[in-house]
Amino acid sequence: MSKDIESRDVSLRLFEYTAHHLSAKILSKEICATDLVKHFLERIKSVEPHIRAYITINEEDALKKATEIDKKIGNGETTGLLAGIPVAVKDNICTKSLSTTCASKILKNFIPPYDAFVVKRLKEEDAIIIGKTNLDEFAMGSSTENSGYKITRNPWNPEYVPGGSSGGSAAAVAADLSMMALGSDTGGSVRQPAALCGIAGVKPTYGRVSRYGLVAFGSSLDQIGTLTNDVKDAAILLQVIAGYDSRDSTSMQVSVPDYLNGIDSGVNGLRIGIPKEYFAAGLNADVHNALKDALKLYERLGAKVIDMSLPHTEYAVAVYYIVANAEASSNLARYDGVRYGYRAPKSNGIIDMYSRTRSEGFGNEVKRRIMLGNYALSAGYYDAYYLKASKVRNLIKNDFDIAFQQVDCIICPTSPVPGFKIGERAKNPLEMYLSDIYTIPANLAGIPGISVPCGFSKEGLPIGMQILAKHFEEKKLLQIAYAFERETDFHLKKPVLKVSSEQR
Ligand code: GLN
Repeated sequence: MSKDIESRDVSLRLFEYTAHHLSAKILSKEICATDLVKHFLERIKSVEPHIRAYITINEEDALKKATEIDKKIGNGETTGLLAGIPVAVKDNICTKSLSTTCASKILKNFIPPYDAFVVKRLKEEDAIIIGKTNLDEFAMGSSTENSGYKITRNPWNPEYVPGGSSGGSAAAVAADLSMMALGSDTGGSVRQPAALCGIAGVKPTYGRVSRYGLVAFGSSLDQIGTLTNDVKDAAILLQVIAGYDSRDSTSMQVSVPDYLNGIDSGVNGLRIGIPKEYFAAGLNADVHNALKDALKLYERLGAKVIDMSLPHTEYAVAVYYIVANAEASSNLARYDGVRYGYRAPKSNGIIDMYSRTRSEGFGNEVKRRIMLGNYALSAGYYDAYYLKASKVRNLIKNDFDIAFQQVDCIICPTSPVPGFKIGERAKNPLEMYLSDIYTIPANLAGIPGISVPCGFSKEGLPIGMQILAKHFEEKKLLQIAYAFERETDFHLKKPVLKVSSEQR
């Protein structure tokens, strides 16, 4: 950190609240949406330079929207579930008239002509889109170091990564630069950064939330999820974004339950499965101990902890990097400089234009994945790689189907380590890929997962606990997570942030 910055505990005031506390205050006119948004914008001005969570800050529009909401409330009109609540949106989710870059140079000047389904839902519920958050380019990574624009810092220690790829969204919520955020999770990109930043992150069931307007990475794995300060806020945000959408062919017509109702039902009699493969070599001791303590607490609360096995876990990372890269190579073929996005200024004919545009526009990790994906799909290799991976994917899914006949949920670490330093894994893609060893299986199986804070490492970094359940059992996940949260105070801890002295 440079000399002009000194450490101090920023006075949090309005930011100390969660959305479920604040929305009542806004509706009762105790505070107005405009003041709340101004608070957040001021805080962004002083804290953001040290966290770098945002790619775009939607200042003018956020203030305008807040005024409209205050007017609505003043006139006694009905308002939405998130009236006046600032929400940050990962920059791979399309926002009409607001830049959406995917943290890639190739989409530097891209302004979508439409809103993603989830963004439309946020607006319908009167949320305020406060900004677009940083990510690994096209959501490919686990640290935000692959962003084409900036590296986001972990609010708990700026030398550490916030996780990824939704690192900007997680850091924004952890540093109170937004009250809530949306991310996307293809192999762990909501849960892993939530764990590393000490907040709650939900990856819903594949098909629960529409992917319409989410820039595609691995289409059979991608799902939009929530990043919030606590489990109740997760329930509210999921309530808003869940539901059927005819514009996503994988969206499911399954009714959306009331996620808050009965969230405090507890875990008495619940069977919790502990898969031995997730507590194996490579698991950091602090993470292991935090999980052991959490499981003891669940037992005290009346749950039964059962040892079990998910035997095909060891193949998950390999399968994921074939499936995800194959799908990515096909999805990213559209960035060719023809219709939108970056086009190389000088070229010699159309083939040269494609080639230069893609060479100049994409970063190294994206190029690596396109090459690996194309290879796995090429004639002669398809059967050996993509087809084989798809078959093993089924075995992994079957493991979960069998497990959920014996247990109600599975609990394991979200990430094998509490965090890693910026630069520590950047040069070794394989090491980086292993960051997602515990989160990837849920994407391959399409099941929902949540990460909640369950402790701190010796270095003071947050530790996340992951809970997994059957397809469409998000309500149960939230109940199980809340049972833990209400007995602990990890979710109430906030990082001590640094603020530039001249910006106070
Ligand atoms: N870290 C994983 C990857 O790089 C997962 C990314 C994600 O979930 N978007 O592919």
